[in-house]
Amino acid sequence: MFIDVAKISLRAGDGGNGAVSFHREKYVAAGGPDGGDGGKGGDILFVADSNLSTLADFRYKRKYAAENGANGGPKRCTGKNGADLIIRVPRGTLIKDAETGRLLADISGDTPVVVARGGKGGWGNARFATPTRQIPRFAKPGRLGERLEVILELKLLADVGLVGFPNVGKSTLISMVSQARPEIANYHFTTLTPVLGVVRLEENTSFVMADIPGLIEGASEGVGLGHDFLRHIERCRLLVHIVDVSGIEGRDPIEDFETINRELKAYNPQLAERPMMVAANKCDLATPEQIARFRAYIQERGMECYELSAATNQGTRELVEAIAAKLATLPPILEFEPEPYTAPEVDPQAFEIVKDGEVFEVDAPWLEPVLRTVNMDDYESLQYFQRVLIQSGIIERLEQMGVQEGDTVRILGFEFDYVR
Ligand code: GDP
Ligand code: MG
Repeated sequence: MFIDVAKISLRAGDGGNGAVSFHREKYVAAGGPDGGDGGKGGDILFVADSNLSTLADFRYKRKYAAENGANGGPKRCTGKNGADLIIRVPRGTLIKDAETGRLLADISGDTPVVVARGGKGGWGNARFATPTRQIPRFAKPGRLGERLEVILELKLLADVGLVGFPNVGKSTLISMVSQARPEIANYHFTTLTPVLGVVRLEENTSFVMADIPGLIEGASEGVGLGHDFLRHIERCRLLVHIVDVSGIEGRDPIEDFETINRELKAYNPQLAERPMMVAANKCDLATPEQIARFRAYIQERGMECYELSAATNQGTRELVEAIAAKLATLPPILEFEPEPYTAPEVDPQAFEIVKDGEVFEVDAPWLEPVLRTVNMDDYESLQYFQRVLIQSGIIERLEQMGVQEGDTVRILGFEFDYVR
């Protein structure tokens, strides 16, 4: 089954904790602090793999985690960094933040892209020694690695996308001009997965052609097949519109042509602007009048009409050469730029205090990382925490609310006795 959208969760590695340790040596009475730093948590990166063509793997495995950094050790031993996790995806996969829909990365190039960053390691106590603080009994815990849910969305990278009604001969054409071997059959929707073929011409020219499952009327509104596949032509530099000029299935080629164009426009107005070439297929079955009528219609619209019989390989060479010539004049394949992140404007030190019975409950999410780094058993570390509470105005508010010596103040699950 062809899967081109998947949702997975990422957990980059946490940083290791810094160590609290003191130098010990025979005959040396009291050594200085020598606790090493924690290692950095591993990042999660994505890289394009041209051998992959679907996101099917991500249906079975949905959780991805990079290694945590190791804790620091004595003798200034830095903890080992957590190993990065590299996730391989088909070329052309977009990565979006599931919560906001923001585009984080377009995995189309060759360089791996970091999507979730590992946390930094915490400093060991060796770092906290100063002339006035010779015995730091605290170290910093590592920072948490980034955790996020992302949506992977494959938008194939092809120079040329074949569009047209089912059964007009798209798969037949790609199998004639490239090594791709899609299923060909005389019923609608034989092509259930997009197929990429590399078309090689002499003089080192080649381009990638995508056979997209047939579009039917209403595809842009999600009726039937086709809609899901429209995303794959969004990046094509050129569309080749294939029409069954013989009308062997009882439809009118001109109506077909207009219907498909309406569908493209309804899905994405930019697609209607995309350069397009027209190929009248099944000429072997068509009368000269049928061909002439369609050609006149297309030429009136200022476009060139290529006459083709994909099944008997007539006219395919001319079409492919015309495509290559046209591509040479067009800009390269569209790559999407990640959307810059603008954090919502919130007061960085906003807090709320409610009185829960006898307890003063302080809610201040930004305090969490601060609290995580506090060593409750260490005087200096607690003093630092106290300063943060004063600077942010929390203490002042508590006093306004009538806090008394000995009252309980709960901050993010930790309970403290209020001391003036
Ligand atoms: P798709 O749905 O557009 O991919 O169409 P296919 O390539 O699967 O072709 C549908 C049917 O039309 C198959 O039976 C093909 O053999 C036939 N076909 C394709 N091109 C031609 C052609 O140029 N002439 C004739 N006579 N039949 C063709
Ligand atoms: Mg097909």
